[in-house]
Parts: sequence; C-alpha cells; structure tokens
Amino acid sequence: MQSKHTQEDSPSKAKSSVRQAKSQLEDWTLDSFQVPEEEGKLRFHDLDLPDAVMQGIQAQGYQYCSPIQALTLPQSLQGMDITGKAQTGSGKTAAFLISIITDFLDFPIQGPRRLGTPRALIVAPTRELVMQIASDADQLTQFTDIRVRQLVGGMDFEVQQRQLQKGHVDILVATPGRLLDFCRRGHANLREVEVLVLDEADRMLSMGFIPDVRAIIRQTPNKQDRQTLLFSATFSEQILRLAEQWTFEPVHIEIEAENLAAETVEQRFLSVSSFDKYRVLLNSLKDGSIERAIVFANRRHVTRELTERLQRDGIASALLSGEVAQQKRVKTLERFRTGETPVMVATDVAGRGIHVEGVSHVFNYDLPEELEDYVHRIGRTGRAGASGVAISFASEDDAFLLPDLEALLGKPITCEPVPEKLLEG
Ligand code: AMP
Repeated sequence: MQSKHTQEDSPSKAKSSVRQAKSQLEDWTLDSFQVPEEEGKLRFHDLDLPDAVMQGIQAQGYQYCSPIQALTLPQSLQGMDITGKAQTGSGKTAAFLISIITDFLDFPIQGPRRLGTPRALIVAPTRELVMQIASDADQLTQFTDIRVRQLVGGMDFEVQQRQLQKGHVDILVATPGRLLDFCRRGHANLREVEVLVLDEADRMLSMGFIPDVRAIIRQTPNKQDRQTLLFSATFSEQILRLAEQWTFEPVHIEIEAENLAAETVEQRFLSVSSFDKYRVLLNSLKDGSIERAIVFANRRHVTRELTERLQRDGIASALLSGEVAQQKRVKTLERFRTGETPVMVATDVAGRGIHVEGVSHVFNYDLPEELEDYVHRIGRTGRAGASGVAISFASEDDAFLLPDLEALLGKPITCEPVPEKLLEG
C-alpha cells in the first residue's frame, strides 16, 4: 500500500524542501549525534528522519530504536495502519510520536488553520497516560513548530478550552469523555484528523470507554482516509474485532510480554497467607535495596489502609487511587519521581499513569483480577532496559489465578515460601 500522505492525496500540503528550519536548528547538525552501528539494532539514523526530530531524540537520550520502534517506524512512516501488541515500557509512545512528527514536518500545511482541528488525535484511557504522552510529545517536538495540546477530565474545562482556542493544534492528546465534551460543544473538530492513535485499547475496553471511542472515531475521516495506529497490551477476541473495524489493511506488530519481562524484570511469587501479607510487605520495604517501589492492590480501600499503615510504621509512602484529587495526584507523582516519597500504593487504574524511571520494585499485594493488569503492573519497573523486580503475593484468596497467569506468560510459575526474616517482628 502507498503512503496515505502523499502529496497527491493532500494538495494543500507541500513537501517541505528544507527539513525543518527552526531557529534552534541553525547551530545543530546531525554530526553532533553519533551513534555507532550495532549488529541487530536499528538506529534512528537509519530511518531518514528530519533533523528537528533527530535533535529531539538526542535530547531524550535515545540511541537505538527499541524493538517496538524498530518494527513500527519503518511501516508507520510509510503511512501504513498498525495494530501493535506492546506493553507500557516498550517505547511505543515514542514510536507513534516520532512517526506523526516526521509526517507533519515532511508535509506541512500551508495557509491558515481552523482552531480546534487537530491533524493527529491520540486517545488514551487515563488522565495520567494522556499527560505522559503529551509531555513526551512536548519533548520530542521541542525543536519544531508542531503544537501539542491535551484534554483530560478532572481538570479545569475552561483552562483547556482557552489553551485550545489560543491557536491551531497539530497533535491533540485526550481521554475519551473530555474529548467528546469538547466535540459536542463545538470546541474540537475531528474532520481533519490524518493520524488517529488508540493507545491501550484493552484498557479502554475494560474501563467501558468503547462507546465513547466509537463516537469519537465516527467524527474522524473514514479509515481509508486516515492512518490508524492501535496499541494494546493484549489482543483478546474483542480487541481483534475492534481493531478490524477501525484499521485499514493493518500491519500487525507484536512484542511478546515474555521478552519484555524476561529481559528486564525478575518476577517472583511468594506464598503468603493473607494474615502475614502486611508484615511481609513492611519488612520487604525496610530492606535497603529498594530504591523506589510501587505497591499494587485491587481495591481502593485496601490501598488507603495500606498507605496509612505504612506511614504509621515509618515508610514514606503515598496513595495514588481514583479517590485522590487530580491536582494532588500530580504532586504525589512528582514526589515519587524525585524520591521524596519512595513508595507509592496504587490501584490499577491510577497506577497506569506512573511513568517513572528507576522503579526498582513492584509489589502485587493482591494478584490482579484482570490478568492483563499483571503485565501492565510489572511494566512499571524494568523500564527502558533497566532491571527491576516484581514480587507478587499469592495468598489463599487469590492463588487460584496462578494457572491462568501461567498461561498468559507462557511459562510455569514457582511460588516461593516467604523467607523467615520477612515474617519477623
Ligand atoms: P513507553 O513504553 O512509551 O511508556 O516508554 C517507556 C520508556 O522508555 C520511556 O521512559 C521512554 O522515554 C523510554 N524510551 C522510549 N524509547 C526509547 C529508546 N529508543 N531508547 C531509550 N529509551 C526509550
């Protein structure tokens, strides 16, 4: 298939002769960004990206494409639709962003633009994820004129509206509900969307957003006339069906959870009675080897009680759950990032937005009821090639989930007894 973004398709867009001239670029040349060729690795240099994108990539400290990027970019840069099985931590965000930014630099729109009509729309299930994607986009576009805006629920509607009305928008990142609100009130118009990204489709499904996502997609051009990139950590029957409806002759790309987990995350399972769980967690957290840890539990009230107990027992910890106000969540995440609060207790939904480097440990205080969440949870550590440890407590209440988890991971799980020293006190 030919690129959907050829000049013939888009008469209003002329291929830029200079691959982006922004003032910051004047002193910068690709010579200052040397990355040696390495067997089996794709360099961003091998993709013929515009200098402004290369400069952004260099500023991010990336050298080689991650596996998902190496598989996605050559296809997405051709304008192909993609369905990608990739977890958080795989580098999928940069994969779709680099593709979008390159496309927009290569095919700039000449002339005035209507307000609130993005060229790329990225839909993601949670506020945290949207904020993370928008922040990555800000970083990667910093040497270009490309404008990034975000729309998320739980934050001031009017502030976001003013942001959107200030000038045109190129890349809009949004949660489904808030975006629909903006569309209904006429503040956003999706008719000109050239690239649609649906991120974490499985989460959108389990969070009940599919009707909203459908309503959004209906407002974008037909699938033959847009590029659609759909990412999901798992591809159930239902996700496959949705992907089929929403994409046009897609290339399917897969990075196995196993590869990701096996390479960078050590997964341990402890047989712990529910009576001993708290003690084992507390003693584990007191261990000096833990730099930064996220503790996942299934229920909000459990996360709240755990945080309070840990604080009483002298562990600097913070709560990240849906019951924490958005503004406070942002501050909590910042303190986690800086190391001021090295332990965060989170529910799955809230924990999805935690994109922090240097998380040394993930604890599954409960095994997740939705097994796909296991992959998402452990993906919080071992990010970008760093090593991490995931410790899951299997108690009499949830050990029945282990066989299904084994099937998902495609390998046997061995439950260790709790080391004596973790039961002391
Ligand atoms: P994501 O899966 O998009 O959440 O990305 C996971 C992390 O990997 C982020 O912190 C990115 O900044 C980082 N990352 C993405 N691509 C690369 C790359 N090619 N090299 C090194 N780090 C990367």
